[in-house]
Amino acid sequence: MQVSQDQPISSEAPLQLLLFVDGRPKSKQQVQRIRSYLKELEADYHFELQIVDVGQQPYLAEHFKLVATPALIKIHPEPRQILAGSNITGQLKAWWPRWQAAVDTYLQLQTNLQENEENGHVREPKSSIRSVAVSAELIRLSDEIFRLKQEKEKLQEQIQFKDRIIAMLAHDLRNPLTAASIAMDTLQSNYNAEKGAFERLTPKMTAHLFKQARSQTKTIDRMITDLLQVGRDHDREFPFQPQKVDIGKLCLDVLDELRDRYTAKSHKVKKDIPKDLPNVYADPERIRQVLINLLDNAIKYTPESGYITVSGLHRTTQKVQFSIGDTGPGIPEENRDRIFENHYRLERDESKEGYGIGLCLCQRIILAHYGQIWVDNAPNGGAWFHFTLPVYPN
Ligand code: ADP
Repeated sequence: MQVSQDQPISSEAPLQLLLFVDGRPKSKQQVQRIRSYLKELEADYHFELQIVDVGQQPYLAEHFKLVATPALIKIHPEPRQILAGSNITGQLKAWWPRWQAAVDTYLQLQTNLQENEENGHVREPKSSIRSVAVSAELIRLSDEIFRLKQEKEKLQEQIQFKDRIIAMLAHDLRNPLTAASIAMDTLQSNYNAEKGAFERLTPKMTAHLFKQARSQTKTIDRMITDLLQVGRDHDREFPFQPQKVDIGKLCLDVLDELRDRYTAKSHKVKKDIPKDLPNVYADPERIRQVLINLLDNAIKYTPESGYITVSGLHRTTQKVQFSIGDTGPGIPEENRDRIFENHYRLERDESKEGYGIGLCLCQRIILAHYGQIWVDNAPNGGAWFHFTLPVYPN
């Protein structure tokens, strides 16, 4: 008998056995027992036993669809046979004479084939441990290909997302850039260098144009700073997986989850989500968080029997705007930027439970999608929260 471990699996022996083991101490003892039993059985022909550690060769175990170890498998001669369970030696004892007989038949067949070969016949390829190893390797490789394909799809999605975002940002940057250019062109074309004065422009208009140019360049600067910050966040603690998301449906799902809360306050929900609202390019879990936070606030701050409105709008070719309105007290104009700061709460609402972190999280998530989030007041005085997300390309 030849026992091999950690060797390339290949054998020409007429009887080929594989013994699958794992690292547990109990199975080590069982393996010892099987090996010494096989030694006692020593046949009058060469046979080979290979020990396979399932931990190291999981694909080989998968190939044989093994569910337990130890397991002894007769690979050759065919048909394949698996002995498993606690009493492998007992089973082996019963099968050994039959295996011997199978080997005898095989050897006899070989001799006949050899004679035929000498007469010009070709021998069929025989099943062996080597062919098993090859198919186990194939399983491993196809698993690997599957994993790589998925990874490639994910990366392609991310590249597409970035392309889309670049188009959207270029579009967004163009607005303040155009406004600043127009202001500067007007100033330049009215400037008389010899006189050192602006002609055809009143001092008030001149001042206004300078202010306009300055404020638009500041806007561009702020957009670029935000953009760089988002890029840094993506790399660090804020990973997200953008994909195609039906935001209207996602919002209706979230509303369903919150149904008990708003029916308890007898709120009515108005839905204005166009059927042809495009899908957005976003991380569904993150956007769910945004919707939950905004709807939760709308319910929290709206008195009994009020209205909550959800509405979607295809704002530009690249952007979808989603809005959540309520009939609560609204947000005073002077606080509209600050409520997105971490831990910021209106004094008015200090008695209500909350930590002032919900809106800050919403802003981080929306900015990570290169979108915008803001609040204004609805005509009825309630709060109207809006956010934008990039459209998913068709
Ligand atoms: P909180 O846990 O306090 O609700 P948020 O960050 O979600 O924290 O909100 C910050 C503050 O903004 C709230 O404390 C509240 O004063 C105000 N606010 C948020 N949503 C609304 C709303 N829909 N109506 C009125 N005020 C709101």
